[in-house]
Amino acid sequence: MAAAERYDIIVVGGGHAGAEAAHAAARMGARTLLISMSLDALGKMSCNPAIGGIGKGQLVREIDALGGIMGIAADRSGIQFRMLNRSKGPAVWSPRAQNDRMEYAAEVRSLLESTPNLRMRADTVVDLVVEQGRVRGVVTLWGAEFTAGAVILTSGTFLNGQIHVGERRSGGGRMGEGASVGLTAVLQAHGFETGRLKTGTPPRIDGASVDYSSLEEQPGEPHASPFSYLSDGVTENQVSCWLTYTDPAVHGILRTGFDRSPMFAGRIQGRGPRYCPSIEDKIDRFADRDRHQLFLEPEGRRTQEVYVNGFSTSLPEEVQLAALRRVRGLENVHLLRPGYAIEYDYFPPHQLKYSLETKRIAGLFFAGQVNGTTGYEEAAAQGIVAGINAVQFLQGAEPVVFRRSEAYIGVLIDDLVAKGTEEPYRVFTSRAEHRILLRQDNADFRLTERGHALGLAGTERLNRMKARREALVRMREAFSRRSVSPERVNAYLASVGTTPIAEPERLVRLALRPQVDMQALLEAASMSDLSDVRIGSESIARLAEVEIKYEGYLERERDLAERMASLESYRVPGDFDFTGVTALSLEAREKLARIRPDHLGQASRISGVSPADVSILMVLLKGARVSRETPGGDGITD
Ligand SMILES: Cc1cc2nc3c(=O)[nH]c(=O)nc-3n(C[C@H](O)[C@H](O)[C@H](O)COP(=O)(O)OP(=O)(O)OC[C@H]3O[C@@H](n4cnc5c(N)ncnc54)[C@H](O)[C@@H]3O)c2cc1C
Repeated sequence: MAAAERYDIIVVGGGHAGAEAAHAAARMGARTLLISMSLDALGKMSCNPAIGGIGKGQLVREIDALGGIMGIAADRSGIQFRMLNRSKGPAVWSPRAQNDRMEYAAEVRSLLESTPNLRMRADTVVDLVVEQGRVRGVVTLWGAEFTAGAVILTSGTFLNGQIHVGERRSGGGRMGEGASVGLTAVLQAHGFETGRLKTGTPPRIDGASVDYSSLEEQPGEPHASPFSYLSDGVTENQVSCWLTYTDPAVHGILRTGFDRSPMFAGRIQGRGPRYCPSIEDKIDRFADRDRHQLFLEPEGRRTQEVYVNGFSTSLPEEVQLAALRRVRGLENVHLLRPGYAIEYDYFPPHQLKYSLETKRIAGLFFAGQVNGTTGYEEAAAQGIVAGINAVQFLQGAEPVVFRRSEAYIGVLIDDLVAKGTEEPYRVFTSRAEHRILLRQDNADFRLTERGHALGLAGTERLNRMKARREALVRMREAFSRRSVSPERVNAYLASVGTTPIAEPERLVRLALRPQVDMQALLEAASMSDLSDVRIGSESIARLAEVEIKYEGYLERERDLAERMASLESYRVPGDFDFTGVTALSLEAREKLARIRPDHLGQASRISGVSPADVSILMVLLKGARVSRETPGGDGITD
C-alpha cells in the first residue's frame, strides 16, 4: 500500500457540520481533508429547503459572526426571507429563509472549493487509526489510509441508517444514498456508548399538479434582513409559499395505514424529534384537532418540486398519496418522492468535552447529528466549534468554549455535554436563560473579535462590526441629545396608541415607550439623517432602541451571567473521584461520575445535582482550581 497521505485534520462527512468544520479548520491554517461519501451531496439539505427559524436563525448569525459559511450560502440561495416573531420582543426575533435546495448545496461546495488549505475526497471512512488512546488517521472503504493529528466525525444520519416507508425498509443515510456501516462498531469497540434515534421527512410533490388558486399565499417580507453580516441585503425577487390544511377526511385516510406504520408497529425503535412530529403522530396524539396546517414550500427557482411542510410521514406510499389528494389544492397531485422515516446511530453527547473532543480518544471530535441533535443549524454550529477546537488541540492551545450567556452555540453545547440527550435535540430561544443578551442583531458584537483573533473571521467582517458598533454609539448619543417637536411626531404617537407630547421631547425618552418603533418614528418625523443610517441592511436606530428599551434587563442578565461564570472557574480535575464523596447525594454521585463535568457550572446544570451538592463540591474544589489540560502538541504542518 502507498504511504498514507498526511493532513493536520480530517473531517469525515460533508453535511452541514462537516462543511463548517472543514472550512473553519482550513481557514485557521490547518491542512484539512474533507472526506465525504459523495461530493455531489456536500451541504445537502436532507429535509426542508430552509435555513434559520426560531433559535436557529440566531445560530446562523453566530456562525456567520465567527466567520462561518452557512449565512453566506443561505443569503445567496435564499428565495424567500422573513423575520419570525416580529410581534414579540427583539430577544426572540429570528430570521428564516426559504432556500433553493440545489443552489444552497452549490454555494456550499463553491465556498469550500475556494478555501485555501482544504482538499476534498469522495470516499467512505470505515475505520479509525488509534494509537495509545489518540487518533492518528482514518481508513476508507476503498483501502486508502490518511493520517492526521485530529479527526472530526460528522456522519449525520448515515451510521447504520435504515429508511422506512410503510412495511418496506432499506439501508440508507438519506433516500437514494447508502448507509455508513462499520464506524459504529469501531467506536463501540473503543468503549463508546451508542443509541438509536429517528427522524422523518414529508413527501415532495410536483408543483405543476397543485391548484394554487384555492390556497392562501404566504409572501416573503420586502427588505428582509440577510443572515450574513457581510451581505448588504437579500433578493427582492422572492417566491411565495402556500398554506393549506388537512381535515377529518384526510385524517381518516391516514388512519387506514396505521396498522402498516413502522412507528406504530414498533419496527422503529429510535426516538423521534418531539417538536417535529409526523402527521400520523399529530393526528394520533391530538385526536381532538380536526385540522393541521400544511405549508407548500418551493424547493427552488428552477424546479417545480415542492416540499409539503407539516406532512412528515412514513406511512405506506399509497396512503400518503390518497391522503394528499384529499387536501384542498392537491386534488390532482403527483408525488415525486414519498415521505419516509430514518433510524440511525448516535453517540450520547455526555461522552464529549466542551471542545467537542471525545473523552475517550484524544484528537477525535464529534459534531452534528451524530451527537443527538437535529437540524442543519445545530449541526453547523457544532461543526464550526469542532473545526476551531481541532486546530486549538493541534496547537496545544486552550479549547474555545462559548458560555451560555455569550452565544446560542454555548447553550447548545452546554445542554448536550452537561445534560446529554435521549431524543433529537433542537435549539429554541426558550433554552437560553440570557436570551435578551443573545439577540440575532448583536451576534457580531458578541463573537466577531473572537473569530478574527482565531484567524477565522476576515478583516472585512471585523471592520463591519466595528463600524456598526461606532454607529450605534453615535446613534445613542444622538437619541440623548436631540429632541423632536410635537408637530412632527404627535400623529405617529397617536397612531400607535401612546400619549402625544406637549413640549419638544428627547428621542431617548420616546424610545423608552413600549409602543414606539424608533425607525418608524424617525421616518414619520422626517429625521432621515438618523432613520437612514444602516450598515449592511440593518437599521442602527432599531439597534439603539433595543439597547435603550431593555437597558435594565440587559444589566440584570449581565450580572447573572457573571455570577454563573464564577462557578465555571471551578475546574474539576479529570481524575476527580465523585463516588468517594459520600456527602453528595447518591443520584448526584452517579450522574457526576457518568457525565464527568469539566467545571462546577456544568455540574450545577446536571439534573439530580442539587444546590447543596454544588456547595459541597465548591468547598472541595476551592484552592484546587486547575486549568484545562490540553493534550495536543503535534502542531500544524507547513
Ligand atoms: C429524512 C430526514 C428528515 C429530517 N428531518 C428534519 C427535520 O424535520 N428538521 C430538522 O431540523 N432536521 C431534520 N433532519 C436533520 C437534518 O438533515 C440534519 O440535522 C442535518 O443534515 C445534520 O447535519 P450533519 O452535518 O450532522 O449530517 P448530514 O447532513 O446527514 O451529513 C452527513 C454527511 O456525512 C457523510 N458521511 C456519513 N458517513 C460517512 C463516512 N463514514 N465516510 C464519509 N462520509 C460520511 C454523508 O455522506 C453526508 O454527506 C432530517 C434528516 C433526514 C435524513
